[in-house]
Amino acid sequence: MDFDPSWLLISLPVAFVLGWLASRFDIRQLKLENRQAPKAYFRGLNFLLNEQQDQAIDAFIEAVQNDPDTQELHFALGNLFRRRGEYQRAVRVHEHLLGRGDLSRSDRERAQHALAQDFLRAGLLDRAEAALQKLEGTRYENEARLSLLAIYERSREWAQAAAVAQKLDESDQASYSTRRAHHLCEQATERVAAGELSGAAKLLAQAVELAPQAPRPAIDTAMLQLRNNEAAAAFDTLVALSETAPLALPLYAAALQQAAVAAHREGEALALLQRRYVESPSIDVLEALIALGGTPTATEQNQAPTPRDGYIAHLAQQPSLVAASRWLAGEKFEHEQFHPQVQRALDQATRPLMRYRCAACGFEAHQYFWHCPGCQAWDSYPPRRVEEL
Ligand SMILES: [Zn+2]
Repeated sequence: MDFDPSWLLISLPVAFVLGWLASRFDIRQLKLENRQAPKAYFRGLNFLLNEQQDQAIDAFIEAVQNDPDTQELHFALGNLFRRRGEYQRAVRVHEHLLGRGDLSRSDRERAQHALAQDFLRAGLLDRAEAALQKLEGTRYENEARLSLLAIYERSREWAQAAAVAQKLDESDQASYSTRRAHHLCEQATERVAAGELSGAAKLLAQAVELAPQAPRPAIDTAMLQLRNNEAAAAFDTLVALSETAPLALPLYAAALQQAAVAAHREGEALALLQRRYVESPSIDVLEALIALGGTPTATEQNQAPTPRDGYIAHLAQQPSLVAASRWLAGEKFEHEQFHPQVQRALDQATRPLMRYRCAACGFEAHQYFWHCPGCQAWDSYPPRRVEEL
C-alpha cells in the first residue's frame, strides 16, 4: 500500500489540535485543583478556627496573591479586616473587588454593601452615606435605608431623614408614621428658631395628621399657639390631647395651666387636672394645680387652698422628697435664720430626682428628650421624673 501524502495534510493539524487540547486540559485541571484547594487558603482557615487572626490574614493574603480571581477569599479577607478594626485595609479589599470588570451583579452588590459597612464602622459617615445610596434597588436596599436613616438622625439632617423614613414607610411592613411625625416636629422647631412661624405651623399640622395619637405634635402645636397668642386654641389642643394621651400629661400640665390662665378658663383646667391627678398623681400635675390656686382634691367650702395644702395632700399619697422640699420652702420655722442653708441642701438633693431617664440606655437629663442623645432611641423617656419611676 502506497503512502498517501495527503494524509499528512489532514493528520498533522488534527494531531496539533489534539496536542493543544491536551495541554489546555492539563493547565485547566491544574488551575482548577489549585483553585479548589489552595494550601494557603486552608492554612488561613485553620488559623481562623484557632482564633489566630494575624496568621490567618497572612495566609489569606498569600492565597489572594496566588490567585487574584477568588472573590470569596477577598470577601473573607475584607470582613476579617473590618472585624479587627483595620478599616482602611477592608476598604482597599472591597474597592479592589468593585474595580474588577468580571464581577457578577450579585457579588458587586455584596461588595458595595461590605464597603458601606466598612465606612459605617470607621465612622466615615459622608462616605458611608454615598456607599449606602448606591444600594438603592438592590437586595440590601432596606438595610441600607435603615442605616441612612440612623446617619441622618444622628447628624440632625431632618429633611433627608424624613425622605428616607417615607420610603421605608411605603415599602416596609413596619410603620414609620410616629417617627416621621418626629422628623416634621424637629423641622418645625428649626423653623420656629428661625422665626418662620407659619412654616412651622404647616409642618406641625402634617405631623398631627401623620400621628394623631402621638403627644408631641399636639404639644408642639399648643406651644406654637401660645407663642402666637392663640391661648384658647392652645387650651383646646391640650384638652383634646388629655383624652388621647393622658399619661403624657406631666409633660404639658404647665402649658395647659398657662393657656388656661391666658384664655380665662381656669375652672375647666382645674377640673381636668384634678380628675387626671386622681387617676395618676404626679409632681408636674400637682405644680400646675397649685399654680391655678387649687389642690389635688376638692377642699372644704369657704376655704381658699394654699400651696401647702397641695404638697401635704401629695405627700399623703406619695413619699416624695421633691414635694417635701417644696412644702418646706414655704414654711416658717423656729430657727428660720438657718432655713436658707437647709433649703439649699434639700434643693441640691432633690435636683437629680427631677430628671428624666431614658428607659433604653439610662441617660438622665433635666430636659425631656423625644430623641435620646445617648442611644438615639425615639420616645424612650417616660413622661415622669426619676423620683416617680
Ligand atoms: Zn437612651
